Amino acid sequence: MATARDVIESYRDTEKIKLYERAIKRAVESLGREVRIMEFCGGHTHAIMKYGIDQLLEGYVRFIHGPGCPVCVLPTGRVDMAIELARNPEVILCTYGDVLRVPGSQRKSLLNVRAEGGDVRMLYSCLDALRIAEENPSKQVIFFAIGFETTTPQTAVLLMKAKERGLKNLTVVSNHVITPAAIQHILNAPEIREIGKVRIDAFIGPGHVSVIIGSKPYEYFAEEFLKPVVISGFEPLDIMQSVYMIVRQLREKRAQVEVQYTRFVSREGNVKAQKLVAEVFELRKEFEWRGLGVVPYSSLKIKKDYAQYDAERRFLVSLPPPKEHPACICPKVIRGVAVPTECKLFGTVCTPSNPIGSCMVSSEGACAAYYKYRHGGH
Ligand code: SF4
Repeated sequence: MATARDVIESYRDTEKIKLYERAIKRAVESLGREVRIMEFCGGHTHAIMKYGIDQLLEGYVRFIHGPGCPVCVLPTGRVDMAIELARNPEVILCTYGDVLRVPGSQRKSLLNVRAEGGDVRMLYSCLDALRIAEENPSKQVIFFAIGFETTTPQTAVLLMKAKERGLKNLTVVSNHVITPAAIQHILNAPEIREIGKVRIDAFIGPGHVSVIIGSKPYEYFAEEFLKPVVISGFEPLDIMQSVYMIVRQLREKRAQVEVQYTRFVSREGNVKAQKLVAEVFELRKEFEWRGLGVVPYSSLKIKKDYAQYDAERRFLVSLPPPKEHPACICPKVIRGVAVPTECKLFGTVCTPSNPIGSCMVSSEGACAAYYKYRHGGH
């Protein structure tokens, strides 16, 4: 019987990868120009750099790194909000690991607040916040939630369980963002619309997000903007096959949504998870993304039925306007109009152990991926 390792190794088969390499190069030659593909998801950026797929297809396919890293797109103003909440001695602030290291306006992070005595806790599962709230009845426990559609269902379950248990000291700050709205925003951006500035021929669609939302929400982009979208897995053979599927669409002058990651992604997605999210969350009119600015209907807020668990209603935080580091070009990297090595701070002042911008914090960030795989980081 095949083990899990055998299955993974089958997606790293060198001979098959070489076959796809030849097929992609032949197809691109017949198109007569380099193909430019945006991989939306930071997980794909990481895999492309790790397996050297960008180097393998150099001169044939250019990968443009998209904004699909939830830590990277968290705007400085929201980081400042988390820091301010964590400074309240009545509060235990809980969040996922990478958020702790993102610098805010004053070059301080949640880790600095913890070093100064603030009660800041890193969670592996957001459901741990339930236990922390029950064990600390005299404290207000705030879960600072971030993530794309992949992590939203867990936050929905957290809120439902908090309500079931009648917890009075647990609230959530929702920073959950939505992929299709961001892709639409990118396609409407002046750099993309202005011919010759940043050309995007097609998208590699996010794998994990699409397990939840399905492939259906991308059909609009394919039809409206005439861009092929292929939803891909994360192994090298997955990505090579996805690139081939894109190039084949371009050659056949098609713009459709195709799923390469069929072992996990369906057209409808995970309907049960979608229902959990719909029970607790609703669309915000607008939300700021680092790099993209204010994007309409691109994030989720907590519904009125769960208002008592909404930290943004319970704790009013008033802060001065956020300040970005003047030399950090994260916003350009996130929009795909610059690569990390164009930043003057890359690899010198800014490294994974001393991140100046959010793109160097998370392993899914483009700057961290360039540092790790192209800068001799490891
Ligand atoms: S290298 Fe650092 S400072 Fe430069 S863009 Fe990336 S995160 Fe920002």
